[in-house]
Amino acid sequence: MGVFHGSACSHCRRENLKLFLKGDRCYTEKCAFERRAYPPGQHGQNRTKFSEFALQLREKQKVRRLYGLLEKQFKNYVGKALKETGVTGEKLLTNLERRLDDVVYKMGFANSRLQARQLVSHGHFLVNGKKVTIPSFLLKETDVIQVREKSRTSTAILAAIDSVKRREIPQWLELDAPNFKGTVKQLPKRADIMVPIQENLIVEYYSR
Ligand code: SF4
Repeated sequence: MGVFHGSACSHCRRENLKLFLKGDRCYTEKCAFERRAYPPGQHGQNRTKFSEFALQLREKQKVRRLYGLLEKQFKNYVGKALKETGVTGEKLLTNLERRLDDVVYKMGFANSRLQARQLVSHGHFLVNGKKVTIPSFLLKETDVIQVREKSRTSTAILAAIDSVKRREIPQWLELDAPNFKGTVKQLPKRADIMVPIQENLIVEYYSR
C-alpha cells in the first residue's frame, strides 16, 4: 500500500466518499466521514465550484487512494490500460480490481486493503496452490486464493472473516470461508464496481 501522509480519514473527507481505509472503524460511529462529511481544513465547507482540471484531479486522487497506490504505480496502471484493447477507463478499473491484495480484502480475509497488502507480503496466501507475496499480482478467471494452512490461526485473518458479513462479496468472486478459500468465478466487469467513479475524468487527466 502506498505511504499515506496524514490521516487516512482526511482522504475520505477530501474525496467526499467513504474509502474504507481503516477496517472495522469504518463501520462504526467513530467514522470521521459520518461525523464530518466535508473536506478537511479551514475552508473545507466553503468550496462549491471546481474547474474541469480540479474535477479530473479529484477523481484520480479518489481512485488512487481507494486502491492505496502511489502516483507512479497508479500512472503505470493507466499506461497499461491505454495499451490494451477496449475502453481505457474500464480497463483501468477492472485491472485494479484484479489485484491480489484487493481480492483478498474483497473476499474478507483482511479488514482493509492496507491490511490485505501486509498479509499478502508476509506470505499468508496461496494462488492455485503456490505462495504469492506480490500484492499487485493480477488474478485471472478460475484462480483460487487460499489462506496458507499455518496462517489459519492468524488473529487478523480470523477477525476479518468474522466481520466480512458487514459487506457484500462481489458476484465475480466466490468465498468458501470454512475452507479459507475463494475463487475468481469470472473477471470483473465495469458494472461490478459499485463505488461511484467517473473513470473518463481520470483518462482525461492523463491525456492533457
Ligand atoms: Fe474513511 Fe470513515 Fe474509514 Fe476513516 S473511518 S477511513 S473516514 S470510512
